Amino acid sequence: MTTTDPARLNEPVLSTLNQDGSRRWLRPKPSKGRFLTRRRVVAYVLILIFTALPWIPINGKPAMLLDLAKREFTFFGKTFLPTDTLLLALLILSVFVSIFLMTALFGRVWCGWGCPQTVYMEFVYRPIERLFDGRSYRDGGRTVVHPVRRAGKYLAFLFISLFLSHTFLAYFVGVESLFEWMTQSPFEHPKAFLIVMFVTGLMMLDFCVLREQVCTLMCPYGRMQSVLLDRESMIVTYDPQRGEPRGKAKRRPKSAPQHELITGTTDRGDCIDCHLCVVTCPTGIDIRDGLQMECIACTQCIDACDTVMDRIGKPRGLIRFSSQDAIEGKPRKLLRPRVVLYPLVLVVLLTLFGVTLASKNAVDVVFLRNRATPYSVLENGAVSNQVSMKLTNRSGETREYEIAVLGEVEVVSKDLNLTIEANDTRSATLRVIVPRDQFERGRADVTIRVTDDTGYSRDFNRHLLGPLFGAPVSSPPPPPPPEIGASESVGDDIEEAAS
Ligand code: SF4
Ligand code: SF4
Repeated sequence: MTTTDPARLNEPVLSTLNQDGSRRWLRPKPSKGRFLTRRRVVAYVLILIFTALPWIPINGKPAMLLDLAKREFTFFGKTFLPTDTLLLALLILSVFVSIFLMTALFGRVWCGWGCPQTVYMEFVYRPIERLFDGRSYRDGGRTVVHPVRRAGKYLAFLFISLFLSHTFLAYFVGVESLFEWMTQSPFEHPKAFLIVMFVTGLMMLDFCVLREQVCTLMCPYGRMQSVLLDRESMIVTYDPQRGEPRGKAKRRPKSAPQHELITGTTDRGDCIDCHLCVVTCPTGIDIRDGLQMECIACTQCIDACDTVMDRIGKPRGLIRFSSQDAIEGKPRKLLRPRVVLYPLVLVVLLTLFGVTLASKNAVDVVFLRNRATPYSVLENGAVSNQVSMKLTNRSGETREYEIAVLGEVEVVSKDLNLTIEANDTRSATLRVIVPRDQFERGRADVTIRVTDDTGYSRDFNRHLLGPLFGAPVSSPPPPPPPEIGASESVGDDIEEAAS
């Protein structure tokens, strides 16, 4: 809806938009202080962790490996397979609930302190930019930089983006494969090459062009802030009762220490309207306007304002971490429904995760039902069913498995004894022949037993299909069992998880 109020016509729509609709390029001025020091430590530790994780071996695998080709996901020595859907779902839900809890307690602290977008923008790309462009913090349009310096900056950005995208790829293929591929022609591994180029391009687009737009316009987490926060959540906030009415500062008399400022008169608040909290803001907002969706809780404005307060001899904390209620002088309510509910849900989810993990079997067995030829009747009247199964060794070491079908049945298969390496999957196809008189209403029950060389044993009850009644029906002969390792290609099979 278009406003007709003349007083509102000049209000900025977005913090990064000029009145004429053009992009307002931000060059936030870094503000030294206790929070910047802490954020810097956190950021460099996080960068170190991201770079090091693919290199750290745990149980013979990288600390984190997302092997999409094998559909294996390894986290700190524990490998998850596609059959671990429940575990993965519980893990993802736990992460979401943790984020909700963290936001309810501490606002968007993740955005300002832990999000890769902020970490790399503020502690890698922007320092490099200042190195090449100089320390001009003109508010608004782009600064004019010598073309050689500009080219040097983008070259440095490209180098870092390439390094990061290669590190990113290492999470999916491991560092050994990555180094091997890097020494070979891109045509030998075109997919990996294209992925690296694509990710590098995305990073250049992000850190050269989009920048704070990712946080203010694109990130869904920022958009959800209003429903995740309550009035008791800790946020970066300005204290208007202390700061207002704001007013420009005057210099001290010559006798006073040089460059120290004082506020004009005693009837003014502590804010001297110096705009340092605005100039330092990486999303270009003025925190004095109250809680805004664009605030990523980076605390830069706290450091900026504390420095000003030190200089004018006022107590620090005009801008500080506080809650909306606390800043308005209302009593604190530490126990709110959401800070009780979220931890409870989290405990339930983590307990379920732990119990599910602890009760995992040493072998996952998945049965495949052949829809095309469910059964065939042999010349002697017996009924033959083809049973296809996939066994995944979850024990963490190579094991020998034996498959047996109990009861008065005949089994034809060369897959009854399988050696399976840790986390590997092998297929087995059995022809189970059952006398026709064992079928009732077209169904016969058998027990398939899987044992391993450590004494592990597990029984699976299966229903075999056969003719409902009447004389033996001739049907086409069953297809020969496929070779070991090739039975995954059985065309019309339906998977039935049995573990
Ligand atoms: S830095 Fe502090 S004193 Fe300066 S404008 Fe911001 S709130 Fe006011
Ligand atoms: S208002 Fe302060 S805390 Fe929020 S983004 Fe700007 S500088 Fe960071």
